[in-house]
Amino acid sequence: MCHKRQSSLLSNKRSDRLKVMEADGKGRIRIIYWTGAVMLLLLLIMLCWSLFSSRSWPQEQAFYSSSGLPALQLPEQRTDLPDEAQLHPGMSEQEERQAAPSGNGAENDTDTDAPSNKPVQLPPVFPGQTDMKRDGEGGIEVPLVMIDPGHQRKGNNEPEPVGPDTNETKPKVSSGTMGVRTKKPEYVLNLEVSERLKDELTARGIRVAMTRETHEVNLSNKQRAELGNDARASLVVRIHADGDASPKTRGLSVLYPSRAVPATKAVAEKSFQAAAFVLEQLQLATGSSNRGLAARTDLSGFNWSKVPVILVELGFMTNPEEDVQLSEPDYQLKLAKGIAEGIDRFLKTGGE
Ligand SMILES: [Zn+2]
Repeated sequence: MCHKRQSSLLSNKRSDRLKVMEADGKGRIRIIYWTGAVMLLLLLIMLCWSLFSSRSWPQEQAFYSSSGLPALQLPEQRTDLPDEAQLHPGMSEQEERQAAPSGNGAENDTDTDAPSNKPVQLPPVFPGQTDMKRDGEGGIEVPLVMIDPGHQRKGNNEPEPVGPDTNETKPKVSSGTMGVRTKKPEYVLNLEVSERLKDELTARGIRVAMTRETHEVNLSNKQRAELGNDARASLVVRIHADGDASPKTRGLSVLYPSRAVPATKAVAEKSFQAAAFVLEQLQLATGSSNRGLAARTDLSGFNWSKVPVILVELGFMTNPEEDVQLSEPDYQLKLAKGIAEGIDRFLKTGGE
């Protein structure tokens, strides 16, 4: 008995020890299990986080990069300007400053229709402008060019400030000049050439946005400048045609904002570079006579711009021969190719 009791005591002790060891083992397994589970959870959280952050970054970029474009649907009523077409290319800056707001024929807006109060329904924008396109390599933003086909069907004579630095005002927008022989309104010609320019730029892989693709808009020259600002365009190209009291006056010209205006001082140099390239290429493409480059202080469409901007005067619609030529499809194609080539050079060298 004693012996048995002793042995049973011993076996009890042994089994207690075993139980303790078993319990220790289970505890260790439990610790290992939980540690593993926690680590796995942490790993999953880190994985999700890295996936989320790598995806959301480009989306954010895309959103901000293209956020200027939805601004094309400006809610307020728009109206516009007297023809800035009444440009006086070739004038010195001092002369420009003295220039009367309504100088040549193009400025004499004969459109007396009352401005429309209807909300602006802008046309669908060019597809490229809603998508942020990247070069795929370094993630560099593809430059955007904003084309502004001058004028619209109905002018708007409501005044608007010529720029942030002045109290001077000008009508918001005019309907422009008109072809003496073709009887085509300037706003029609401007859009025809602008559409061809859009195609030429697109073919070169340049993103394009348009301030209008219909004549039924009510966009002041200031608002047009703001569209370029909002889109953070590398260049805004305004397309116009000239008018003059003399039917002999002819030739194309390219205008850019003057350094003398504080508001456009920052973009004057780049604008000048773009204007010079475009004029040179226009000359090569068309062989037409030109009136050169002109710095301007008096154009609302320039003075409200925070991005490089130029205005191409395609030629004089008040000159019978030039008026007819400006409507020829072949000549329009030459104009578009010349302007596109100049823009391309600017983007590759002077632009961003
Ligand atoms: Zn014009």
